[in-house]
Amino acid sequence: MVPVALILLMSAGGKVDSPTGVAPDRNVYYPGTEELAPDEMRVVALGTGMPNARPKQAATCFLVELGNGDKFLFDIGSGSAERISAMKIPYDYLDKVFIGHLHSDHIGDLAALWIGGVVANRVTPLKIWGPSGAEEKYGTKYMAEHLQKTYVWDVDGRIGNTDTRGLALEVNEFDYKKVNEVIYQENGVTIKSFPAIHALDGSVSYTLEWNGLKFAFSSDTYPNKWWMEHTKNSDLAIHECFASPKILIDKQKFPAQTALNVGTQVHTSPAQFGKVMEDIQPRMAVAYHFFNDFDTQPIVIQDIRETYDGPLSLASDYMVWNVTKENITTRMAAIDEDIWPQPSVYGNRPPDQSKRIGFSKYVWDGRVNYTDVLKKIYEDINKEYGTSVPVPQ
Ligand SMILES: [Zn+2]
Ligand SMILES: [Zn+2]
Repeated sequence: MVPVALILLMSAGGKVDSPTGVAPDRNVYYPGTEELAPDEMRVVALGTGMPNARPKQAATCFLVELGNGDKFLFDIGSGSAERISAMKIPYDYLDKVFIGHLHSDHIGDLAALWIGGVVANRVTPLKIWGPSGAEEKYGTKYMAEHLQKTYVWDVDGRIGNTDTRGLALEVNEFDYKKVNEVIYQENGVTIKSFPAIHALDGSVSYTLEWNGLKFAFSSDTYPNKWWMEHTKNSDLAIHECFASPKILIDKQKFPAQTALNVGTQVHTSPAQFGKVMEDIQPRMAVAYHFFNDFDTQPIVIQDIRETYDGPLSLASDYMVWNVTKENITTRMAAIDEDIWPQPSVYGNRPPDQSKRIGFSKYVWDGRVNYTDVLKKIYEDINKEYGTSVPVPQ
């Protein structure tokens, strides 16, 4: 038996000193294995890519976990639900999403978390916060209402078949023009929003403050005065840093005019990102929203370093920051690709089958009933698990 103190020492970077010994933690985060200290914040990048899909990088999503037990998702872009699952967190704890704007690379996996979270054992409502728009149809509430309309077949088809309490979707829309006003305050956590400048009115950025620590998340924006004023000296400042015009021309094959417009006007280029961070001086600057490869990274770094020489992370998926008042460490997470969902922390209820909408006689009469096979399945399960579920008639 190895004493706990020795295990901790080894995990801090020991060496293998026996052929049957244990290799120490090589500075990797293994999800589900590290308790957060009461004063610690952990941030995980679960989507750092671009609006176009690729296996290596999902679209925008960042998870913030706090030592008080609270967890928050900021944006939920296409492909991020898969990354979220790799964190091994019960979905009951992943019930709060803050949306910066309604581009698909920032909300594309909302349904995957909302309905997929229920299938993965979440029994609590999913709560989302997001901005209004210049017109009703550009707001978060309108999006959420229509998302629910899109999935009405899905939702209704689950009633009476599984525990569907988690299908409740709570939408908190706030005025996108609010500047540094509180939109969430609970359990010592304060989240404020302010306008971002991106595509249309109705984009916002956020700050989260807790226990003397400040997290800032731009979502997408052109550099703007509100960000400069309200994120100064953040502990962790995540700001978009889009692929530079040169990368957009060489790799994405954009015409120069499109590359310059998208890369410097719709978004913030690496050179502009450097200026933004030079202005706000965070303890750690995090750049995301570019394809982070061997051939793009040198270009992005060179552009940023022309104007900013402070602490910098070029985010890729599964990058992890542990933030305390004393330290900020940056590591990569090692992922178990064979992940299954955790059980609900509150317990799943058996479905109330009387609530099923059911089939028409036309479809129902098409069933081919292997009665003996079904009888045996039910008998075997009841025997193995000590239950007494009857075969439906
Ligand atoms: Zn966008
Ligand atoms: Zn985006």
